[in-house]
Amino acid sequence: MSVPTLFHEISKLRMALGELQESGNILGLVPTMGALHAGHLSLISTALEQCDAVIVSIFVNPTQFGPSEDYSKYPRTLSEDLAQLENLPNKNHKPIYVFTPSPEEMYPLHYGTWVVPEVAASPLEGSCRPGHFRGVDTVVLKLFNITHADIAYFGQKDFQQVQVIRQMVRDLNHTIRIITCPTVREPSGLALSSRNRYLSAEARDRAQVLYKSLVFAQECVKKGIYQVDLIQEKMHSILECHPENQVEYIAFTDPDTLKEVTEITGPTAVLLAVRVSGTRLIDNCILEPAPLAEEPWKN
Ligand code: AMP
Repeated sequence: MSVPTLFHEISKLRMALGELQESGNILGLVPTMGALHAGHLSLISTALEQCDAVIVSIFVNPTQFGPSEDYSKYPRTLSEDLAQLENLPNKNHKPIYVFTPSPEEMYPLHYGTWVVPEVAASPLEGSCRPGHFRGVDTVVLKLFNITHADIAYFGQKDFQQVQVIRQMVRDLNHTIRIITCPTVREPSGLALSSRNRYLSAEARDRAQVLYKSLVFAQECVKKGIYQVDLIQEKMHSILECHPENQVEYIAFTDPDTLKEVTEITGPTAVLLAVRVSGTRLIDNCILEPAPLAEEPWKN
């Protein structure tokens, strides 16, 4: 346990981090929008294991929300978030710096520079949420530049987001290292998400079908079924078990380029977006087809 130090201003955070960096400390950054849950905490715990100090940003970034999205009602629970950070096991008492800027601190009057990603940012979330990854990449690059962190931690839960950020780091020759941490799930399989708070008890039960449909895809691959349309059709019926579940997409893609595939011939990302009683949930998994059977005549 250690009491996190709170910063609202970029200049003060920079001053504190500068001292740590000058003495050679490795800094980890975990960008979040707050309403922290065990998924966020797993990223922060990994950062605490691997770094000398950890910056957790808590910022509901207005520029990544579309005009009809949930920016104003997105949960903001700073005091509970700080209490969770204070209670987080931290055996070497490494410093945790919480950065919670105001929107004006991040986007002052006359702000005018944007990162506009393409390729990995174009399909799926990029086409369902126009402008979303422009907001994500811009705020993430600003956080990288503000903190000069050595390593940044992201969750596989937002698979396309990590690929878009990795592409930005590569394309813009940034030196930060990106680490992807596994998705933390409830015992039911439902991936933890700050948006799960919007679900009624009944909708939460129905939301389990996202994970069930991913498990179905994994079982198909284990049985040697590699044809995407066959798997997708059954996934649709699992997901749309109730009229209030609406599938936005089920995509089978190359994990790096996010280009859709029609047959599973190598590692394949399955990405889902489903509205459950109006709440938009996303989830994903990676399918790994079995290696080709040994060809005895080659021995
Ligand atoms: P958010 O606050 O939703 O922007 O998420 C902040 C970070 O936490 C992102 O890198 C997410 O991918 C990650 N994250 C969110 N939910 C989970 C989860 N269930 N398991 C692991 N990481 C997660």
